[in-house]
Amino acid sequence: MSEVRLGVLALQGAFREHIAMLQRLNVEAAEVRLAGELDDLDGLIIPGGESTSMGLVAERWGLVEPLRQWVHGGRPTWGTCAGMILLAEHATGQKLGGQALIGGLDVTVNRNYFGRQVDSFEADLNVPALGDTPFHAVFIRAPAITAVAEDVETLATVAALGDETESVVTAVRKGPILATAFHPELTGDLRWHRFFVQIVSDFKSCSG
Ligand code: GLN
Repeated sequence: MSEVRLGVLALQGAFREHIAMLQRLNVEAAEVRLAGELDDLDGLIIPGGESTSMGLVAERWGLVEPLRQWVHGGRPTWGTCAGMILLAEHATGQKLGGQALIGGLDVTVNRNYFGRQVDSFEADLNVPALGDTPFHAVFIRAPAITAVAEDVETLATVAALGDETESVVTAVRKGPILATAFHPELTGDLRWHRFFVQIVSDFKSCSG
């Protein structure tokens, strides 16, 4: 794996927890609050928290356009929970005027899919991309992905609300973009962070 330097958007939400996970993997990680801080990064994590607040702070600090350029320029990005909402091209149940704030990931996200009925819950997810051991996922007022474009790979699902025979998507990947509806940074399981670091590292070797 080549050496990579990651940033974690640090406007609001669970950014410290992501940095702690990356430090456990001996990966250099920096808090990002200014557009210029994106310059020398190989990958970016947009954490969970509250997507409306994070969007408002990003707008106020002039970060929306630089973040769009970063993601739409094909740079490796992982959105967890609120971060996933900000990356979605289409969102329902949101206050952002129906507009994705950053976009780049061709999925439809229901912003508070689980939030309305169950504030938080935990579930063991089968994630073939991470190996045979299920991943114990923590969902907090979590969104779900209700539609994915053909070229977006589904990595994990969970039973739909009210109908155990149906499922909704909770983790996807498209090239250098990864999105999870849950919070791997609140568990002791480093596999999602390792998975993203590998994506960033592969991308860095390919792009020279
Ligand atoms: N549903 C929340 C939102 O709209 C996200 C919750 C989370 O990030 N844990 O931003």
